[in-house]
Parts: sequence; C-alpha cells; structure tokens
Amino acid sequence: MLLEQSTLSVDHEVNPWESAAHRFDEAAERLKLDDGMRKVLRTPSMELTVNIPVVLDDGRIEVFTGYRVQHSIARGPAKGGIRFAPDVSLDEVRALAAWMTWKCAVVNIPFGGAKGGVICEPHLLSEGELERITRRYTAEIYEVIGPERDVPAPDVNTNEQTMAWIMDTYSMHQRHTVTAVVTGKPLELGGSLGRPEATGRGCMFVTMQALKRFGLAPENTRVIIQGFGNVGGMAARLMSRVGFKIVGIVEYDGAVYNPHGLDVEALMDYRRETGSIRGFPEAEDVDRYEALLMDCDVLIPAARENVITSVNADRIKAKILCEGANGPTTFVADSILAEKKVFVIPDILANAGGVTVSYFEWVQDRQGYFWNENMVNERLEEIMVTSFNDVIGYAGKHNVNNRTAAYMLALDRVAFAIKRRGLYA
Ligand code: GLU
Repeated sequence: MLLEQSTLSVDHEVNPWESAAHRFDEAAERLKLDDGMRKVLRTPSMELTVNIPVVLDDGRIEVFTGYRVQHSIARGPAKGGIRFAPDVSLDEVRALAAWMTWKCAVVNIPFGGAKGGVICEPHLLSEGELERITRRYTAEIYEVIGPERDVPAPDVNTNEQTMAWIMDTYSMHQRHTVTAVVTGKPLELGGSLGRPEATGRGCMFVTMQALKRFGLAPENTRVIIQGFGNVGGMAARLMSRVGFKIVGIVEYDGAVYNPHGLDVEALMDYRRETGSIRGFPEAEDVDRYEALLMDCDVLIPAARENVITSVNADRIKAKILCEGANGPTTFVADSILAEKKVFVIPDILANAGGVTVSYFEWVQDRQGYFWNENMVNERLEEIMVTSFNDVIGYAGKHNVNNRTAAYMLALDRVAFAIKRRGLYA
C-alpha cells in the first residue's frame, strides 16, 4: 500500500520543499553553518511565474502557468530541467531547484541549480500544442536563461524535441544559433553522445560501487526498477547488459516480476507494441504498490517524488536503494531506512549522471568540438566513482548517513563559494 492509497496518513511528509528543508537543516546543523549563511543557502535566488496563453488545436485559448526557479548561481550558471505535469507546483519546483544546486556541488561541476515546470497534462496535448506551450514559455523566461545564466534540460515529460524547440526559440530572439542554452538536445543540434543514457548509466556506476560493500557481483544481484522511461528504462537496459538480474519493473499502470530475471529488450518491444508492460508473457503481473516491496537486492525508484514513505519504508526488502528519481524518499522514511540499515545512494548523487553529461554537452557546444562516446562514458564514470567515494568517505568520517553526508559535502562547497565571492552590496 503506497502513497496514493493512503495519502492522508503521509500528507505531512510529502511536500518536497519541506523534505528538502529537513535535509538541509540537518546538514547545516552538523556543519555548524551560521544563521546568515543558512538564510542565503535556503532561499532561492530567483522565482519567476509566467502565465502562458496558447491557442489549442480546436481554436480555444487556454492559459497555462509555468515556473522557473533559480536556487543558486554561486558556483556557476543555474542548471536544471523543465517538467510538464498537471501537479507541478511552485513548492515542488523550488525543492527541485535546490536539489540541483546540491547535486551539481556533489559531483563538483561548475553550475548552480534551477528547475522549471509548466502545469499541463502532456498526454492530452497534441505535438503542435506542446510546441506552442514550449515556445511561449521560452519566450516568457527568455531574459533569465542563457548559456552563462541558466541552462535548462529535459525532466519529467520533456525530451530532446522540447529542448530543440527551446534552443530554436531562444536562437530566433538572439538572431543567431545558441546551442549551449539548453542540454539534452538531439545529437544533430549540438547534443552529446551518451546524454540520453547518462542518468541510467550513472545509477549503474554507483550501484556497482555499492555492490562491492556487500560482496555482490552483478550476476547475483536482483534489481527492481520503478519507472521504465528516460532513467529507469535506460538503467534496466544497461544493467541487464552487464549481467544484473532485473527481476521487476514497475510502471504507472502496472508492474511485472520474474524472479529469474526479465528480458529487458523483449519487455521494451512488448511495451512498444501494446502500449503497456502489463501482460508481458515472460513475467507475472503484480500489484504496482506491492512490487516495490518484493524480494530484491537493489531497488531503483526512477519516476517521481514520495514513493518511499512512512507507510511502506519498513517493508522494503532491498539492501541497496539507488534513487534514480529526485526526492523518491520522504524525510520520515529516511530514519526508517537507516534503522533497517538499507544502504541509500541518495538522489543528489545517484541520479547526477544526467546533469554531469549535460555539463559535458555544454562544454562541447561552447568549444564547438565534440567528443566520442567512450570519452563521455569514461569521464562520467570517473566523476560518479569519485563522487561516490567522496560521499561515502564523508559519511564514515562524520558518522552520518549517506544522504546527510551528500548534503553536508554539497552545502560546504556552495557555502565556500559564497564566502569567497563575498556579498555584493
Ligand atoms: N532533469 C535532470 C535532473 O534532475 C537533468 C538536469 C540537467 O541535465 O540539467 O537531474
């Protein structure tokens, strides 16, 4: 029984901004940051709300609300994705923007943090409607984005095509092509090799590091993944290729389980043909809420926030939790997982592969010189392994859990940048 079945009982723990604030406070306390610095680090530096009028296909005009929040630009241009979803809220975008700041600091890339979102139901909109929403949204946030200011990327329900529209709209206003204004673009428009796989690949790299601590090899590691899209689908594909047993896949409309391991490519083909993973002949259909609690060694929630809560955390069987999504675990669930000694690879480390290759894409665009795929993947591995060791080393040294360690490391790096820059008055 998960969130949607018992929303009332977890209402107090599911506001992402509050979740972010709890983790922030704990790390700030341990770092003994002074009050002034806490205020600076806690407060987003810019919040923009735009109302976007768009003509729908049937001729009606609809007004959509969108946000862009820049949490910090202390370490470089703001960086972070744009999501399209009906339940986008300013609090959610704020939390996600702050998480981007901490994420970029954990992997030590020269960016601050931002996030954007538009309240809409993308599955009910045509391609043309989505293009008009994207272009008008871009025009409305035009002044605050740019390669040196704020660099958007894909997130939930946005993709390469969305990024191509943003790049084109921005470039039309600039009167020349500016590829580095967004990342996650199609390859032929200044995208990077390895970017579509980057978040899933990053999850695999850090999971492999964690396995060493349990004396597990991929061949005898059973994995359940929630989400079969950009992050979860790629993680499933890449991990099954190196021998992991992907025993369960959970989607928004159902879940499948096979204790001997699923044929991930066949499942992808099946979904392409039927539109769903349900009914896949080589697996058992299971309840999607119970699927997260089934037997496995590694659980990778790779969809949305608040999946692991006080309602189900004590029944998680995985030894390793690798957070492919942003904010899949509530702050109340943190302590339950800690008690159960689940090895948590926190989101701001686990899913940082995406923004890391976004950084590579931005560098390549600005240099006008493109790397081969091996170079991208090798450099990604180096950063993910170094960051994993930094976080785990920090946790050991300060006797805190992995999430608090990741936050402490990030807050420390951002606070250091702010101190060295000084406050302009
Ligand atoms: N949306 C992704 C994230 O949450 C990628 C952000 C980026 O590449 O800027 O990390």
